Amino acid sequence: MMLQTLLGSIDRLRRRWLYGLVSALVALSLILSTAQPSPAIPWLDLILRGVQVIQLSNLGDRQEVELGRRINDQLTSQEFRLVRDSNIRDYVDQIGQRLAPSSSRPNIPYVFQAVESEQVNAFATMGGYVYVTTGLMRLADNEAELASVIGHEIGHIAARHAVEQMREAAIASGLVTAAGLDRNTAVNLGVELAIRRPHSRQAELEADQLGLANITSAGYAPGAMVDFMQKLVGQGSVPTFLSTHPATSDRIAALQRQINPATADQGIGQDDAAYRSRIQALR
Ligand code: ZN
Repeated sequence: MMLQTLLGSIDRLRRRWLYGLVSALVALSLILSTAQPSPAIPWLDLILRGVQVIQLSNLGDRQEVELGRRINDQLTSQEFRLVRDSNIRDYVDQIGQRLAPSSSRPNIPYVFQAVESEQVNAFATMGGYVYVTTGLMRLADNEAELASVIGHEIGHIAARHAVEQMREAAIASGLVTAAGLDRNTAVNLGVELAIRRPHSRQAELEADQLGLANITSAGYAPGAMVDFMQKLVGQGSVPTFLSTHPATSDRIAALQRQINPATADQGIGQDDAAYRSRIQALR
């Protein structure tokens, strides 16, 4: 009886020791396998290196605005100079802020800026950043014409054209990993796309339609959009932001189909003299 009890206790002790050893080994192997970054999981690799990765196919508003802000920082510090005159700066922003609430994407913050350049140009990046050049402001005859260009650029942002363009460019150039796109690469690409790459024909036509609806509901005379485009064609050289495709004549025809001739000239922003005095600092 005594002996049996003793043997039983030894057996229990041995089993307990064995369990202890096994669980220690399991714990150790878990530590070893998680501590080693596996090349089969690139995101883990990227997190360990502290790289910020973004998913362009599923980019939230907050991330898009943040990306737009970083692109804007680089554009305004390295690529061009913003207008210093506060009257001009305020005027451009004021027109944009009048349009934004009646755009098809009113729920993000917008920033409208005037760029010091003789080139007739306008562009947008993503997350609410819109730019017009002083050359374009001088060419416009009135506020409604300038608003039509700004409305078109808001249209690009509302339809997320720059995000889609960036996604396509990143895939085409092999910059996207399974985890997504490195944020610094995205910013550089965004700068490049904003100033050097025209949008597709479909994107331009869509931005025209959205812009027209936007300026109309904000109270501007819709005919101003056609007037300004015709002025650009009449100038001889078509500026970069009205890229060669789609042909500007196609865009004008598409807009004219949308505008009721009877109300084309009804709306605000058609006082040429008032406009000239607002942009006096540019003359
Ligand atoms: Zn455009």
